[in-house]
Amino acid sequence: MQTLEHFKTKLLNRKDELMLRINSIEKDIRHEGMSTDWTEQATERENDEVLESLGMTSEDEVLQINSALERIEAGNYFSCRSCGQEIPVSRLELLPFITTCVSCAEKQSH
Ligand SMILES: [Zn+2]
Repeated sequence: MQTLEHFKTKLLNRKDELMLRINSIEKDIRHEGMSTDWTEQATERENDEVLESLGMTSEDEVLQINSALERIEAGNYFSCRSCGQEIPVSRLELLPFITTCVSCAEKQSH
């Protein structure tokens, strides 16, 4: 199906992007050629915390993308994980890794 391929490509592209970001964050955290200056080291430690939380958000999104890809393979990508109703294509276009319809997502957030 054309639409399914479209979302699959979209998800894979996004995943590539995120993997690149995660890799570069990990490289930053490892500090090739770490500074010997004490104050600079303190600043670098603070940066690490920011980088780590950024990395975690990206990793979360990769997990969501992986489960969306599994749903594509299983053939239930367009149905809501919780009520089974069809998720509108316009919603998936905005959030391709989403697994629930609007009303279930709203129920979850309350
Ligand atoms: Zn639903």
